[in-house]
Amino acid sequence: DGSLGGKVALVTGGSRGIGAAIARRLAREGAAVAITYHSSPGRADGVVADIESEGGRAVAIAADSGDAEAVRAAVTGTVAAFGRLDILVNNAGVGTMGPLGELTVDDFDRDVAVNVRAVWVASQEALRHLGDGGRIISIGSVFADRMPFPNGTTYALTKAAVAGFTRALARELGPRAITVNNVQPGPVATDTNPPEGPVADVMTGLTPAARYATPDELTGLIVYLAGPEAAYVTGATINIDGGFTT
Ligand code: NDP
Repeated sequence: DGSLGGKVALVTGGSRGIGAAIARRLAREGAAVAITYHSSPGRADGVVADIESEGGRAVAIAADSGDAEAVRAAVTGTVAAFGRLDILVNNAGVGTMGPLGELTVDDFDRDVAVNVRAVWVASQEALRHLGDGGRIISIGSVFADRMPFPNGTTYALTKAAVAGFTRALARELGPRAITVNNVQPGPVATDTNPPEGPVADVMTGLTPAARYATPDELTGLIVYLAGPEAAYVTGATINIDGGFTT
């Protein structure tokens, strides 16, 4: 067993990108892992199959993070599958980019539902199951702190909300020995942020490391925050960004 043997984790949006890398790594550390997905059942099944082929335990749960009841059901479904919940990773995220004048209230509502309301609902439901040593880790974004382009108002707003929520909930859960933290990646090579193209060139130019991260490069920090050594890290927003925010 690794550092998370006997633990149960739920990773929202675990079918691709950063969430899939986190799910695979938590499983390698010994956790049983539930992942949610919305549009890619095949990719979600692939992540589960990979984990099982390495001797781990995993399930995939269809749950649109834009649907509060589906998010709640994903938490209870994780407990039903594995008998407990120790680690919640709020990873699923979206972002409609565009000038404020061209965005609609529907765009706003959708992005806030997925990036903010789902974090709130999943955390609320998780509280009913997390015990001493429980962990809530959200994937925010450095764009909460520094937005280098136009057209990112809603996305920046949602990720700043995640940082504020993290601080406030850490205050509430400290006495229960549950930690709450926010990991803000810089540019990471995924489907939604491919490392080639004009946007990527600007991001790379603004990043001291002068490249994108791979999703796997985020997972060591997540394992640390999820594990017993991080019991005194709470309410923190931690950037893992190649120096983008310097
Ligand atoms: P991807 O687009 O590569 O993957 C998104 C994942 O979230 C997929 O598993 C997808 O599921 C899932 N997802 C999307 N919408 C929903 C939904 N409504 N309900 C349930 N699941 C959903 O994204 P990334 O891996 O790049 O991003 C993951 C997180 O990291 C997001 O919160 C993002 O904001 C954040 N982030 C990413 C950065 C980057 O550079 N990539 C930088 C900073 C933060 P499905 O496959 O079913 O669609």
